[in-house]
Amino acid sequence: MIPYGRQLIDEEDVRAVVEVLQSDWLTQGPTIERFERAMAARCGARYAVTFNSATSALHAACLALELGPEDRLWTTPNTFVASANCGRYCSAAVDFVDIDPLTLNLSPTNLATKLEAAARVGSLPKILVPVHFAGQPCATAEIAELAQRYGVRVIEDASHAVGAEYAGKAVGSCTHSDITIFSFHPVKIMTTGEGGMALTNDAETYSRLLSLRSHGIIRDVTQMRGANEGGWYYQQLELGYNYRMTDIQAALGLSQLKRLDVFLERRRELVARYRQLLADLPVVLPSEGEGCRSAWHLYVIQCSQRAAVYEHMRAAGIGVNVHYIPVHLQPYYRDLGFAPGDFPVAEAYYSRALTLPLYAGMTDDQQDAVVAALRDALS
Ligand SMILES: *Cc1c(COP(=O)(O)O)cnc(C)c1O
Repeated sequence: MIPYGRQLIDEEDVRAVVEVLQSDWLTQGPTIERFERAMAARCGARYAVTFNSATSALHAACLALELGPEDRLWTTPNTFVASANCGRYCSAAVDFVDIDPLTLNLSPTNLATKLEAAARVGSLPKILVPVHFAGQPCATAEIAELAQRYGVRVIEDASHAVGAEYAGKAVGSCTHSDITIFSFHPVKIMTTGEGGMALTNDAETYSRLLSLRSHGIIRDVTQMRGANEGGWYYQQLELGYNYRMTDIQAALGLSQLKRLDVFLERRRELVARYRQLLADLPVVLPSEGEGCRSAWHLYVIQCSQRAAVYEHMRAAGIGVNVHYIPVHLQPYYRDLGFAPGDFPVAEAYYSRALTLPLYAGMTDDQQDAVVAALRDALS
């Protein structure tokens, strides 16, 4: 089966991991900090904090911005459930903003309308989580401007968009947000096995993220309440978690980061090839927005008879997939009151969506096999 996405591991990655295994620190050692500094530098953000997943990072980000049971979090329905679940972890109410049919990202026009209506009845969200779907940056500046006007904090879910650029800046620079989240799951752009990261330019948010990652415990004397009782002393200031990444994972991340541009370039090559090879087929191909440089995490086409095409390609050994079942249609969210028809653009898109395989290690031959199977399925 040709998968829809997979990691690309080389000998240097293996060496980097083994080196940490033979060192003094398997976790909470120096490699975590090196990885954080390298990612922050690459993105042009002041601070980066690793987590054991993007899901944990999203949860900690919501807590760092003080999301609570009285609050609301809005995100897009066209995302993985984690973008919404982070709000529910904090017992906040979750709602969605429908997507733009061209970019497949949260629509700034819909956002403006929904914010205006919410402001009138006093139900504005505390946090907005725009998602850079498939690696394509959202209309980040427009979204940030609206968020600022209504006093909404922004967490970019950039799980798909490591290495993407918006208006000439790296996604992760947090130019238009409070916090940006990356995922290093094996199907994403670069991997640490499991892993995630939160980036921010705000010193206070940074120290909250560090504390929340590790039980709410601090060792910095200046943050302590009352006297420092000695060298052994630490304080738990709030309820945190064990959301730490290991040094083993960070070593893999650092090593992968060296090849990030190679990964991105190969994805672009494959996307250009898909564009040529699929040009004559009755399918909608994805495109890159103006001023955006997509990381091309996913190659999503839209076609009629999607279920039949999916089954046909799977039977031919092509690991096509579907991104995403609109989050509000999940039974858990239906139990919270959402129903079909609530976000019609995301639902219409979903009924036609099909993700074709795309990953840095994909060969031209594998891609040709995907195209042949799609042609066959459509004929
Ligand atoms: C993968 C993904 C996540 C969760 O990432 P993990 O590292 O697996 O926790 C969150 N949001 C989006 C949009 C994702 O694609």
